[in-house]
Amino acid sequence: MKLIFEKSVPGRGCSILPACDVEEVSLPEGLARETAPALPEMAETDISRHYTELCKRVHGVNCGFYPLGSCTMKYNPRIDEEMAALPGFTGIHPLAPAGTTEGCRQVLDTARQYLCEISGMDDMTFQPAAGAHGEFTGVLLIKQYHQARGDAKRTKIIVPDSAHGTNPATANMCGFEVVNIASAPNGCVDLEALKAVLGDDTAGLMLTNPNTVGIFDENILEITRLVHEAGGLCYYDGANLNAVMGVVRPGDMGFDCIHMNLHKTFATPHGGGGPGAGAVGCKDFLARFLPKSALMDGGDSIQVRSFAGNFLVVVRALTYVMTLGCEGVPEAAKNAVLNANYLMHKIRGTFEPAFDRICMHEFVLDLSGFKKETGVSALDVAKTLIDNGMHPPTMYFPLIVHEALMLEPTETESMDTLDLAAAIFRELYDLAHRDPEYMHNAPHNAQIARPDEVRAARNPVLRWNRV
Ligand SMILES: *Cc1c(COP(=O)(O)O)cnc(C)c1O
Repeated sequence: MKLIFEKSVPGRGCSILPACDVEEVSLPEGLARETAPALPEMAETDISRHYTELCKRVHGVNCGFYPLGSCTMKYNPRIDEEMAALPGFTGIHPLAPAGTTEGCRQVLDTARQYLCEISGMDDMTFQPAAGAHGEFTGVLLIKQYHQARGDAKRTKIIVPDSAHGTNPATANMCGFEVVNIASAPNGCVDLEALKAVLGDDTAGLMLTNPNTVGIFDENILEITRLVHEAGGLCYYDGANLNAVMGVVRPGDMGFDCIHMNLHKTFATPHGGGGPGAGAVGCKDFLARFLPKSALMDGGDSIQVRSFAGNFLVVVRALTYVMTLGCEGVPEAAKNAVLNANYLMHKIRGTFEPAFDRICMHEFVLDLSGFKKETGVSALDVAKTLIDNGMHPPTMYFPLIVHEALMLEPTETESMDTLDLAAAIFRELYDLAHRDPEYMHNAPHNAQIARPDEVRAARNPVLRWNRV
């Protein structure tokens, strides 16, 4: 398929703008660019066909099952898109006079209220543009808190070895030393390991619960108590709230601040790198450090992005919560957990769960025994799934499980889809024993076979050059 730049024809275009009927003004000298930007020139038909062609080459939630663990690839109701497309929301400007933005501010206030209720926090900012950005904001709140108290010796953030990679990266970006602790054999926090590293240099702990192996840590109250006792704060990585929303609240588990990926749990489509929101909530005692609107007096507050963040993502989240209501939100969570357990149960006996116990919204398979037996790896299985119309699960994560495949079916899949997925897994299990070679070379019917991943990582071609 040709790139859009290769399809460009000089002089071609689509005139969607009416003729200018106001006086033309030139930019001041020095601000105007000297050469025109190299934008593709195409007719509207060709643009439409280009994107439709691209669309056919990818697998989205609207194409089929997409159990990409830790990513919550669920179906997003159309009504959320419709609300986000209302002209009153799309046409607003952040510098518009306050009297004209009342509705938008109500959206932000109501969303803040509902999401604080769901997370058990007292206040919230929508500035961060993604999950990792939210973590950064949350850990900066912890840093500000210690600094404001003149407690300069707290330089360490504790992160379990099962954590999402963004956790240690965030702590590091915020200038902390990362202290890794090994998980207990059941995948949860090892209390003795935690006690051993806690001290008066502990700034905080970053944790996700349910953790990345899909298990709810039963010691959570003891964990947060120990961290507080040592003078540290507890950060909840709530990228994925699917298992617990409306059922238990991170604030009640003892966490002081949290980020939630509105683009995972709360209905904004993601996966293509579009706008997201890592809403950051905190308890009252941290609220004065939260980012304020750029136009307000900052005081102690930190600033991580302009204005109110990706506002339309908040509109979708609010619509999602309001359409589900206080009964629908926990029901969605319970169905997400039910679906994950159902699928795990149906696959068990072929591919084995890494932790064979009731899971939350996702579970991890350990294919190391299977690989020894057949020579077929988790990567081979993932690639063969593509030929079967299914998006591969998350692979080789979390790092504490070797040959890991992590599945998150989400609440929006039917029992039929789960049965079909389980049948495909069983088929591939048999195929691996019959014809491993076939699986080493999969996918056979996809747009792209097996890219050379080493070359792609070492010599990435990141831009197109007009030659
Ligand atoms: C997705 C995810 C993140 C990061 O969110 P981004 O929006 O991709 O930056 C952090 N932690 C966990 C557990 C996640 O699943």
